[in-house]
Amino acid sequence: MSDTLTIALSKGRIFKETLPLLAHADIYPIDDPDKSRKLILDTNHDNIKLVIIRATDVPTYVQYGAADVGVAGKDVLMEHGGEGLYEPLDLKIAKCRLMTAGPVDDQPIKGRLRVATKFVNTAKRFYAEKGIQVEVIKLYGSMELAPLVGLADRIVDVVDTGNTLKANGLTPLEHIADISSRLVVNKAAMKMKHHRVKQLIERIAEAVNS
Ligand code: AMP
Repeated sequence: MSDTLTIALSKGRIFKETLPLLAHADIYPIDDPDKSRKLILDTNHDNIKLVIIRATDVPTYVQYGAADVGVAGKDVLMEHGGEGLYEPLDLKIAKCRLMTAGPVDDQPIKGRLRVATKFVNTAKRFYAEKGIQVEVIKLYGSMELAPLVGLADRIVDVVDTGNTLKANGLTPLEHIADISSRLVVNKAAMKMKHHRVKQLIERIAEAVNS
């Protein structure tokens, strides 16, 4: 294991909202990921790097130790399953809810309920626990479209204000989980780089609570 501490982040909301937390731990990226095409960003510390990846890939990089630490939404972690990861800290950023949703003018459903989502595992688990048989259809985005064109009866998606659902004639139905971003740590790195990881967690926890 190298002496570099690698932190995995995704672009956009998570990156922007994680920056002040990293700053409290005296970690500042040298490049701006919105302006640079680099996937590995240097920081003010020679031995701390940031890797910029897709949000859904963060748990995988951390699970396999390609990154020691990462920031991922609880929605993404629930879908991944959390294998090989510790989840020591709720960063209380990028909050939203994971919900089922369906048409406002819902018609009685004949046969098996069809559910479109990118959260396939979570959706299967949710409906299985309720004892409802469903056919889950994997999509990669714009889930709201599926009920409008007859692809599905329900969607499972993250909801913030609910405006996107409303604009598409959908309404939130069942609450699956409250979502926020979490700090995740590779299990081996937690042991091998214990001091540095612990210090990072403590500094970020201070920033979250202040
Ligand atoms: P809304 O405010 O409910 O209209 O949300 C707009 C869209 O942004 C939704 O369809 C979600 O896909 C997405 N979204 C909202 N909040 C979050 C979040 N915290 N993390 C990831 N995606 C989000």
